[in-house]
Amino acid sequence: MNGGAVDVLVVGAGPVGLTAAVELRRRGVSCRIVDRLPARLPYAKAVGIQPRTLELWDRMGLVADALDAAVPLRGQLVYVDGEEREPLRLALPPEVPYGFAALPQYETERILEAFLARFGTSIERDTELVSFAQDDDGVGVLLTGRAGEEELRTRYLVGCDGAHSTVRKGLGLTFEGGAFPEEYMLADVETDWDLPYGYTLRAVHHDAEGRTDDILVCIPLPGPGRYRMSMLVPPELSVSAAPAAGDGVAHGLEGSRAPALADIQRVLDRMAPRPVTASAMRWSSVFRISHRLVDRYSEGRVFVAGDAAHIHPPTGAQGMNTGIQDAWNLAWKLALAVGGSAAPGLLAAGPCATPAGPPGRRTRGPRRCCARPSCWWATPTARWSYGPPRGRPTAPGRGPGSGPPTAAAWPGRYPPIRCGSTTC
Ligand SMILES: Cc1cc2nc3c(=O)[nH]c(=O)nc-3n(C[C@H](O)[C@H](O)[C@H](O)COP(=O)(O)OP(=O)(O)OC[C@H]3O[C@@H](n4cnc5c(N)ncnc54)[C@H](O)[C@@H]3O)c2cc1C
Repeated sequence: MNGGAVDVLVVGAGPVGLTAAVELRRRGVSCRIVDRLPARLPYAKAVGIQPRTLELWDRMGLVADALDAAVPLRGQLVYVDGEEREPLRLALPPEVPYGFAALPQYETERILEAFLARFGTSIERDTELVSFAQDDDGVGVLLTGRAGEEELRTRYLVGCDGAHSTVRKGLGLTFEGGAFPEEYMLADVETDWDLPYGYTLRAVHHDAEGRTDDILVCIPLPGPGRYRMSMLVPPELSVSAAPAAGDGVAHGLEGSRAPALADIQRVLDRMAPRPVTASAMRWSSVFRISHRLVDRYSEGRVFVAGDAAHIHPPTGAQGMNTGIQDAWNLAWKLALAVGGSAAPGLLAAGPCATPAGPPGRRTRGPRRCCARPSCWWATPTARWSYGPPRGRPTAPGRGPGSGPPTAAAWPGRYPPIRCGSTTC
C-alpha cells in the first residue's frame, strides 16, 4: 500500500518520540508516529525526572498531569558499610521553578500519549520502519505493519528508535563508547518500611580492598511503600556470557532473566538499613549499561534523538531527560523548517549544539545555554515569559500556566520561569 505524504515521520513511541510528536502537533505540523511494539511496556526504566524536563513539560502544557502522577524527590538517604551518612538534600536555588521528581517511565509515556491524542494523533503500533532513502525534497520510507507493507513519503524523518536504532544505522552514524562491566537487577516492589516520603536510598558496601562489592538503590514510585530497586546481579543470574545485541550495543533490560522476589529480598536482608519485607513485585529484570554517542545528530532530512543518539548509565537520570530535550529542541526547529521560516543551517546545528557538544555530552556542563545565533534561547524574539509563543496552537482546553496541579505535595512551585536562566 502507498501512503500519502506527511511533514514528519517519527519512528519510536518511547518518551523521546512522543515528545517530538507532541511538540510537532502542538505547532501545527502534520506528523505520524509509529512503533514496532503492540503496546506500551510496563517497566519503570527511567524514574528520575530532572527540573529542566518539568520546565519543558510546563511549556508543552502537561506538567500538571505529570506532577499529579509523580512523587516529589527531596533527597537521598546514604549508608556506607552499614553506617548512616549525611543525607543528600536535593535543594535548588529559588529561581529554578521545579524540583526533582520520580515518575515511572510507563507513566511518562501514558501522559505523553494521552496528551498527543488531544491533537488527534495516535501511535501507529505494530508498525516498523524497515528502510529509508532521502533525496533533496524528502525521504522515502518503507514501513511494515498489520496491513502489510507501506511506502510513505515524508519531508523529514526523526529516529527516536532507541539504543539499537534502525535510523542511526541507516544513516551510517558511528556510536562510539563502551559497556560497563557491572550487571544490575531491577525490581518494582512494595515494602513495609517507613522511609521518609520523597527520599531515595543508596546503600553501598566495600570489600577489604575498598572496592564496592554490594549496592542497593531504592527510588520511590507512586503508591504506598512502592519502590524501584536496583542492585548488583548475583552470579547465578548473570547474563554477561550472553552476547550483546547483533549491533554490539549491550544496553537496557535483558528480558531473558527475571530475578525472583526471593533474589531481591536476599539483597534487602544484607543491605537495607532496617528490616524490610518486599512483596507484590510487579516486574523485575537484569540490565546492562553502556555509554555511547553518535558522531552527528542528522544527515540531510533525517535525524536521531534520545537513546538512538546517546546512551548513559541510569545514575543521574540522564538518558530520558536529555532525550526529551533533544526532541523538544528538534521539534521547534522542524516546525520552522516545515513552515519555511527556518534560518539556513538551523536544522544542521543539532539539538542546541555547543562547542562542548550536544546535550548527550553536556550532562555535566554549564547550566547556561550556548550563545550560538541558531540557538533558540539566544534569539531575543524567542524569550518567552511563560508558556508557548503567541499564535501557536496549544492543547485544547488546557495550556501552559493555565492552572497549578492539584497535588498538594507541590506547593509553591509555580513562580514564572526566568527564560534563558537554565539549560537549553
Ligand atoms: C534500568 C534503567 C534505568 C533508567 N533510569 C533512568 C532515569 O532515571 N532517568 C532517565 O532520564 N533515564 C533513565 N534511563 C534511560 C531511559 O530509559 C532511556 O534513555 C529512554 O527510554 C530513552 O527513550 P527513547 O524514546 O529514546 O528510546 P526507547 O524508550 O528505547 O524507545 C524506542 C522505541 O522505538 C521503538 N522502535 C525501535 N526500532 C523501531 C523500528 N525500526 N520501527 C518502529 N519502532 C521502533 C521501540 O519499540 C521503542 O518503543 C534508564 C534506563 C534503564 C535501562
